[in-house]
Amino acid sequence: MKLRALAKINLGLDVVRRREDGYHEVRMVMQTINMYDLLELTVTESPGIRIQTNLYYLPCDENNLVYKAAKLLMDEFQITKGLYVKLDKFIPVAAGMAGGSSDAAATMVAVNRLFRLGLSLEQLMERGVKIGADVPYCIMRGTALAEGIGEILSPMPPMPPCHILIGKPPVSVSTKFVYGNLKANELERHPDIDGLIEEMKKGDVRGMCRKMENVLETVTIPAYPVIQEIKDRMIKCGAAGAMMSGSGPTVFGVFESKEAGLKAKEELSKSGLARQIFLTTPFNR
Ligand code: ATP
Repeated sequence: MKLRALAKINLGLDVVRRREDGYHEVRMVMQTINMYDLLELTVTESPGIRIQTNLYYLPCDENNLVYKAAKLLMDEFQITKGLYVKLDKFIPVAAGMAGGSSDAAATMVAVNRLFRLGLSLEQLMERGVKIGADVPYCIMRGTALAEGIGEILSPMPPMPPCHILIGKPPVSVSTKFVYGNLKANELERHPDIDGLIEEMKKGDVRGMCRKMENVLETVTIPAYPVIQEIKDRMIKCGAAGAMMSGSGPTVFGVFESKEAGLKAKEELSKSGLARQIFLTTPFNR
């Protein structure tokens, strides 16, 4: 069975507070994009989960989120057969694009089908949160408001049609570092997530861009100023808005025409600021 695991960007990201147990309560506008990893899953007669990937530095053992996702379902349903997963990664790693979470989500969907477990999407989402807060969203896909620790999801009208330029600088950012350095309970300003949702409902790309804000930029940008440089470059190239996705360091720019997006892609490549650069579009359910 072959599947695509799609990446996401955050059009808005607010951290409401840090809970006593250390988890952060968030309000995030999530958008799936047409950028993906490819998974090929095969049932094997011999038991166990085996993973092969094109990235030498990714774990292929129980630390891979694909392994965790497959094991969760296979243990619960006492599957005695085995699974072989070929994972071709194209989504930048540790980039704020939920690549690992999306691989886990796709694995759960595939295992459910391959072994005819009969679970609904909701039942998969309930189990997915045990792997990671973003996994339920990656199972659901599309445009959504994510609250709680990211697992309470409300579907939203689709993102207005546009072209999205993705630029990842050659730095890796750990999500733990960013949340660990965010003084969530002392923030002086918060992104206007409700205002962002209003603009998106109107289908207004420029209005949406004016309201895009990510509170995690306050931590990641001072640590990696190249993020701001990429944002500035995208705006200079005609983006209606540009922002860091998730905990970074990936930046995305929103363009109203494909031509403008392609031109900006070329400019960004020449600048040398970003190493992984893609022009894509929103994915809607
Ligand atoms: P998020 O947007 O959810 O914060 P991210 O883009 O920051 O995600 P990922 O690319 O999902 O981060 O992965 C972060 C870490 O998880 C990597 O350093 C990697 O070692 C580990 N990992 C485990 N399984 C995977 C996988 N299938 N794909 C990518 N990373 C994985």
